[in-house]
This record gives sequence, structure tokens and C-alpha cells, in this order.
Amino acid sequence: MEAYIREIFNSIQGEGPYAGVRQVFVRFCQCQLHCEYCDTPQTRSNAEICRIERTPGKGDFYSIDNPISRDDIVEIIGNLWTPSTRHISLTGGEPLIHADFIRTLEPGHPLYLETNSGLPEQAQKLKDMVAVASCDIKLPEHNSTRDYKKLLKNELETISILSRTSQTFVKVVVLPGTTEQSISPAVDGVASIDENIPFILQPVTSDRPVPPELLFGLMDFAGKKLKDVRAIPQTHKMMGLL
Ligand code: SF4
Repeated sequence: MEAYIREIFNSIQGEGPYAGVRQVFVRFCQCQLHCEYCDTPQTRSNAEICRIERTPGKGDFYSIDNPISRDDIVEIIGNLWTPSTRHISLTGGEPLIHADFIRTLEPGHPLYLETNSGLPEQAQKLKDMVAVASCDIKLPEHNSTRDYKKLLKNELETISILSRTSQTFVKVVVLPGTTEQSISPAVDGVASIDENIPFILQPVTSDRPVPPELLFGLMDFAGKKLKDVRAIPQTHKMMGLL
């Protein structure tokens, strides 16, 4: 099998409770959503070429043609592995679009899935393979889709599936316009699955910062129903990493 990949490189996870963990990132092409804060909009469509880091963490890229075979990707991941690297981060775009391909990988290292959670049938295919699942829940103000109700239902179904077999946490990007009302269905939905699932509020990285008082208020609002609520910014951007 083959897949369209945007880039493969070694870096440090910058989001959520695994921030600081070294990973090989495989950034897949394509996404079914269109969030207004997206920091990888170029990944929403297929790319003709994939850029590959030559030396782990150096940012010295070369290019190869897409699509790329399973064997080539496994070899590239092996070349980018280092003694402190702990996971293969499947990111995008939306990696669950490529679930059939990911099933063929068997790369010999733990898989860390970064998903928008919108494709539960695809999540079902990977549920026994993923060590860590970072599951987004989008908010209405993200403008990710025309049918928010359906997206939220799918996201909660994905979280329910993956949390049975993987270390799963939920990530919600907070915008300056986010309100208790807009995060309420996400909080209730996660609480109905398992109140212990970590619920990460990630203030958007932007020149319009999220006011601290808004973040504190949202944390306390979510904390009434969920046991592990945290606020974690995108730390890789602070370090100038990919
Ligand atoms: S789900 Fe992720 S990759 Fe897709 S549009 Fe939203 S932020 Fe971008």
C-alpha cells in the first residue's frame, strides 16, 4: 500500500500532557475539516512531494515523490529514530483517513495518534494499535464543519472507542471568543464517557491571545464535571520547533 505524506521528521511533541516527548512525526495529507485556526492548512489536500528530514532534529530536508510505500516509510522512520525518541506521531491533516494504510505499518515503535476524532469508523480499525490517542473536540466557533452536531457526535464516539484500549486525552483549542456555553456539550460528552479522561484546554497560538481570566473560568467550568482539566499551550512554537 501507499500513502500521501506531507513530511516526516524528528522533533519534540509540543501539545498536551506528552509535551516534551521526542517523536518521529509522520504528517499525512488530507483532512475532512476546515478549522479557522488551522496551522497546517497546506495538508488538507494531497501533495506531489513529501519532505523528509535527513538528520534527526536538524531540519535538513530532502524531497521524494508521493505516494510513498509502506516499506519506504518504515525505513525512513528507522533512520530518524534516536535513543530518546519514544513514539511515532501520526498527524496531519487527518491521519484516520489513512487508517487502512496505518494498519499495514507494524513499525515496531509505539504509535501516538493526533486526530480530529471525526471518523469513528476509521478509529475502530486502529483501536488495538494505538498507544496514545490525542483526540480533538472542535467547538462551534472553530467553524470546522457545516454540521457541528454530527461532528461532535462522531468525536465522542471516537473518544469512546479509543479510550477503551489507548491512553487517551481530549484537546480543545480555546479562542478568545470561547464561552462556557460553547464548551458545555464537549464537557458533558466526555464526562458521560469517563470523567477521568484528561481534558486539555489549549489556548490558540495567535496575535489575539486568550485572556487568562477566560482560561481560568473555563477550567473551573469543566472541572465541575471532569477530574483532570489542564491548560497547556503549544510549547513547540515557544521553542521554535516544527
Ligand atoms: S482538523 Fe486539524 S488539520 Fe484539519 S483543518 Fe482542523 S486544525 Fe487543520
